[in-house]
Amino acid sequence: EDWRERGAAVGSRQETDASGQTQTRLVKKGVKDFNFGRTLGEGSYSTVLAATDRQTLKEYAIKVLDKRHIIKEKKVKYVNIERDTLNRLTEHPGIVRLYYTFQDERSLYFVLDLASGGELLGVLKRMGSFDVECTRFYGAEILDSVAYMHSRGIIHRDLKPENVLLDREMHVKITDFGTAKILADPQRHGSGSQEAPGDLTDGVETDRAVSFVGTAEYVSPELLRDKNACKASDLWAFGCIIYQLLAGRPPFKAANEYLTFQKILALEYTFPDGFPELARDLVERLLVLEPANRLPVEHIRNHRFFEGVQWGKSLWRQKSPRLK
Ligand code: ATP
Repeated sequence: EDWRERGAAVGSRQETDASGQTQTRLVKKGVKDFNFGRTLGEGSYSTVLAATDRQTLKEYAIKVLDKRHIIKEKKVKYVNIERDTLNRLTEHPGIVRLYYTFQDERSLYFVLDLASGGELLGVLKRMGSFDVECTRFYGAEILDSVAYMHSRGIIHRDLKPENVLLDREMHVKITDFGTAKILADPQRHGSGSQEAPGDLTDGVETDRAVSFVGTAEYVSPELLRDKNACKASDLWAFGCIIYQLLAGRPPFKAANEYLTFQKILALEYTFPDGFPELARDLVERLLVLEPANRLPVEHIRNHRFFEGVQWGKSLWRQKSPRLK
């Protein structure tokens, strides 16, 4: 379906049937089915609005994208990647869910989970830094979400506290999949075996990325060195986030992007006084230049920093800790 040539307000919807299978069903949802409310934020090509389904009264965030602007700025590929990745990531509480997409003459509409707690970055800025308990909780929810997307063959490539949203109960909802990479075959991936050749269809890449994506402070050394991102690149960013939650600032930060890249490539960072010992050990095993030597997800879960965490469903049912 090429929305560049269509104008009708027809949408599709993700549904989970009685057997637990997720199905995409065509339903006629459109602009008229929602009451639009306050503006939640603005992106370069989009406005995100709070909205309520007139029928069910359920609240959503609707991302409205301007078609002409996207085409003019050559961002069609990224919009499609965002839609395609979110459509693959519908079974995890830690990822913003895409419920419907539709369009009219002017705009594309993505109907998403409402993350009314805002960005983790905003919360962190208000607090200055987190204590160990909060860092362990938010770290665990981010890791659980990253493990899920990796298991579905998706690398985020731009993990950072701005892209970690929080819902009303202050649980994690990861967003911004416009620069994600869809691995050619999620089944095959992870065992380090074959790669499909070349660049496949739109938005689907093999395990080699082609260009710089991401944010300077969280970008991995392999991306800078070899223009190659892999699952472990998300774990580098995860290490940067753990550091930042406790220290109040990211490990690699300089006056400009070039100098930040120099620091990353030289692994030039230090821990502030009083940085917790177990967290330091974890960060040191994640901020490792060679991606193959970075601690894999399974070992991160078992690291002593995360001791006592109930992984899986109960993590998401738990009451989130009071911020301090
Ligand atoms: P850019 O496109 O420039 O990279 P962006 O990725 O932040 O910016 P959007 O995804 O359109 O652009 O988001 C704009 C703002 O809306 C964000 O800063 C975020 O705080 C807010 N926002 C996005 N999605 C949601 C959501 N599901 N719930 C609540 N707020 C959201």
